[in-house]
Amino acid sequence: MKYLAGYPASLQAQVAELMAADKLGALLCQRYPQPSHDVQTDHALYVYVNELKGEYMRKAGPLSKVMFDSKLHVIRNALGTHTTVSRVQGGKLKAKREIRVASLFKEVPLDLLRMIVVHELAHMKERDHDKAFYALCTYMAPDYPRLELDLRLYLTHLDSGGARFWAPKGRS
Ligand SMILES: [Zn+2]
Repeated sequence: MKYLAGYPASLQAQVAELMAADKLGALLCQRYPQPSHDVQTDHALYVYVNELKGEYMRKAGPLSKVMFDSKLHVIRNALGTHTTVSRVQGGKLKAKREIRVASLFKEVPLDLLRMIVVHELAHMKERDHDKAFYALCTYMAPDYPRLELDLRLYLTHLDSGGARFWAPKGRS
């Protein structure tokens, strides 16, 4: 259970039980009955991320680029990345900030997209996954800890060969 490694053994045991009984997928479906969200293009993602940023992290510098990345999950074993590249431009130091979100987040309910976006935005200010980082995430999404756990449960479900169950927009 690589996605749940940071959680207590009792929780992992509970999840193993649910999976053995083939009930993990059903539990998540029940918790998120809504279909996938509308944020389906890089542009729509850029708009969505900047809305959240404007609401909670106005002081952080502007984002140069926001995009979905289909290789992210597979290659880097990361669900999202945030990078800042500093370049000297015309004698001034300019920071280029970029957020990438794994494409699998196109096919989830909005709450789970919000979770990864909040996570990457929080990294603009807090580098490590420490207390201050999670406090910032929870400030932007009060139910952040539950959303992150649910996302990890979904990944665990997919990893065990479970089907994707939030239909892509436009299909059902
Ligand atoms: Zn992180």
